Amino acid sequence: MVSKLPHTGTTIFSVMSALADDYRAVNLSQGFPDFPIDSELNEHLFKAVKDGHNQYAPMAGILSLREKISDQIKKFHGRKINPETEITVTSGATEALFAAISVTVCPGDEVIIFDPSYDSYVPAVLLNQGIPVRIPLNFPDYNIDWEAVKSAVNSKTKLIIINSPNNPTGAVISEQDLFNLREIIRRQNIYVLSDEVYEHIIFDGNRHISPVTDEELYRKSFIVSSFGKTFHITGWKVGYCTAPPNLTSEFRKIHQFLTFSTSTPFQFAISAYLKNKSRIKNLKKFYQSKRDLFLEMTADTKFRPLKCSGTYFQLLDYSDITDENDFDLAVRLTKEFKVASIPVSVFYEKKTDNKVLRFCFAKEDKTLEKAAERLRKLK
Ligand code: GLN
Repeated sequence: MVSKLPHTGTTIFSVMSALADDYRAVNLSQGFPDFPIDSELNEHLFKAVKDGHNQYAPMAGILSLREKISDQIKKFHGRKINPETEITVTSGATEALFAAISVTVCPGDEVIIFDPSYDSYVPAVLLNQGIPVRIPLNFPDYNIDWEAVKSAVNSKTKLIIINSPNNPTGAVISEQDLFNLREIIRRQNIYVLSDEVYEHIIFDGNRHISPVTDEELYRKSFIVSSFGKTFHITGWKVGYCTAPPNLTSEFRKIHQFLTFSTSTPFQFAISAYLKNKSRIKNLKKFYQSKRDLFLEMTADTKFRPLKCSGTYFQLLDYSDITDENDFDLAVRLTKEFKVASIPVSVFYEKKTDNKVLRFCFAKEDKTLEKAAERLRKLK
């Protein structure tokens, strides 16, 4: 059989988590929390199953959940989104990203992607026979080179994918970035896919910036998020896409044949949980103190932290320790020092090796402590 993705292997997240298991390493590679979820969520889930919510959900998602999502958007961004026509519940953000890319990209269309980029974007573009045009973010701040974007845009450009707060870099976009994006796509047939799964995990007084707040940009945007990060439930795989009605109706044509609908009891459980409107209030503080603890604990290692303004990932520069490439070091660290991380070069088209590893700090304090103790041994 001819492979449709000849250059795609198993994701680095699966590779490093498996290696962590094999070597009984502390797993700071794949991004998921190791602490229990709020027991109220468990109760809502059991109740949903007990109450008989076990058959197909409506294709677009149960309305009560879409209403809660709309309320959240109003609360955080001040914009009224119609839950009936502008919100679709998906099986994780991954499905929403794939559907949004499928809606927009026709064979030969170009898609601007910023490297290091989350690893599901490029395969989704390729499967739709689009052409990924990958523009590196400026190292080490990982901000967007808008001059490079301007030069890359041409009549074939169909979509620009942004991700803020950014995985794996922890960088966040500014109002000026949004302004530049708007200027570039103005009067062009170019759409925006904004991956905002870490929207509520943002630090140091930074504010999450989204195209949803900008009338002109929103008209051409698909905004993707996920409850996985916000409520520590990555395995529940409930995400959503917000887009204006004309884009949402095209989006749903694809969503209905990707999964038809998303798991019913999970939707009911999240909807019930969101009845309490202050659920998300403490999240920033919670993760900022995890980040600060991890930084404090690794301060006496030879790793140098890069700025992390959001997400639950901390990049550490290891160039004072070794000139090994990042993949080899990530493997060696897992096998010999029993700490698993993610090598950032895998998220670049050209496998650019800036000598940085990504560590997930969505972990119990004692897990972070154990990891730091082991990292200290690396001289
Ligand atoms: N988003 C998670 C990460 O960056 C992993 C998701 C996955 O394993 N597919 O680590």
